[in-house]
Amino acid sequence: MKLFTTFAANLCFLCVNRKHCSYFCIMNAIENIRKLFPALEQEMNGKKLVYLDNAATSQKPLPVIGLIERMNSGINANVHRAMYRLSDETTALYEGAREEVRKFINAPERENVIFTSGTTASINLVATCFCERYVNEGDVIVITADSHHSNIVPWQLACGRKGAHVRILPLKDNGEWDMDQLQDMIDRRVRLVAATQISNVLGLINPLDELILTAHRHDIPVLVDGAQGVVHMPVDVQEMDCDFYAFSGHKIYGATGTGILYGKKKWLEEMPPYMGGGDMVGTVTFERTTYAPLPLKYEAGTPDFIGASSFKPALEFVGNIREGETGKEVARSEKEITEYMRRALREIDGCILYGDAENKIPLFSFNVEGCHAGDIAQLLDKMGIAVRSGMMCAEPVMTRFGTTSMVRASFAPYNTLQEAQYLIDCLKKAVKMLR
Ligand code: PMP
Repeated sequence: MKLFTTFAANLCFLCVNRKHCSYFCIMNAIENIRKLFPALEQEMNGKKLVYLDNAATSQKPLPVIGLIERMNSGINANVHRAMYRLSDETTALYEGAREEVRKFINAPERENVIFTSGTTASINLVATCFCERYVNEGDVIVITADSHHSNIVPWQLACGRKGAHVRILPLKDNGEWDMDQLQDMIDRRVRLVAATQISNVLGLINPLDELILTAHRHDIPVLVDGAQGVVHMPVDVQEMDCDFYAFSGHKIYGATGTGILYGKKKWLEEMPPYMGGGDMVGTVTFERTTYAPLPLKYEAGTPDFIGASSFKPALEFVGNIREGETGKEVARSEKEITEYMRRALREIDGCILYGDAENKIPLFSFNVEGCHAGDIAQLLDKMGIAVRSGMMCAEPVMTRFGTTSMVRASFAPYNTLQEAQYLIDCLKKAVKMLR
């Protein structure tokens, strides 16, 4: 983190009086962050890369790249198993990352934090194990209509096995949850509510507090899909009082194939294990097996200990860009980009922005009448811009808004207002070519 601190200390060397120089302050803070991301230096199709697919995966900062390199080239031995120093060092990095995650989401104990391979794996774990233990024929799992496929299909599979059903909390036309319908959703058959904190298509910060309060009033636990939420806002699982919280490492500047499941101890202790194998056992005989205490009960087999260890530098990076002056500049930059993008997209003839409401992260899914989303994305790619197009693993959201695909530009703190302006200029050119 030394590298980052050096950059941060140089914040806004262009001026002493901040009052008159917000532009340079923002520029400088963002440029300093960009320097930590070598991937942003590339060219694509002969143009400087403008990477706007951060909701799919983020680029990696130097401290994360450095740790992964150091571990692969030296600090590499299987975790938890051996009585020699190298294995101790790897284990210390792996468990140190767990502690970093615990602090980052304010989980009470390390036992609440399970390493998985991603949000998808975390939700599948809960869907399988929770439903196995608590769900019976005729029961109901409520999910929110803005869900990613990974918060739909695992519940359908688990409910299918038990003869239970999935019930959907619908969306209003502006993409917000229709909270008036929540009361009608909740009855004595509901066993769990699985809710999206921020949809990867709509980018709206959902009213989780209200949902969790309502569910808990009926003693119904809540799982939160935090894949996008944890990247854009501070998360305190105790304050939120969710029962489970799931997120991925690769979207929050860490390694691919890594994820977290936070769970309240009561559930994690009562649910059966997910996978069986090494590391998740107490004693094994051919007749009977006992399980390891939490968190290892849910971590069968050799984990991606190198990837998981990268949670530490990744979350330290996030902590740094949320703090102090840098944090203020990042927040200002994101607000500026969001205001600019909403205004600029509205001004494009025939452009529909989905999730055009307050409490929005800098994520913009849209269509332009007369142009196919995939064609727009391909033309933007020729101009060096990486955006996502298609269903974005959320087909029911597409159906809700009467389309089969959208274009999505999703920004990270290393993206600049100039990149947003370049996107809009290129989008206008693309639309002209396609119409
Ligand atoms: N939920 C949401 C809201 C997401 O944005 C994503 C990734 N696009 C996922 C779940 C699945 O994450 P992963 O593929 O990393 O498991």
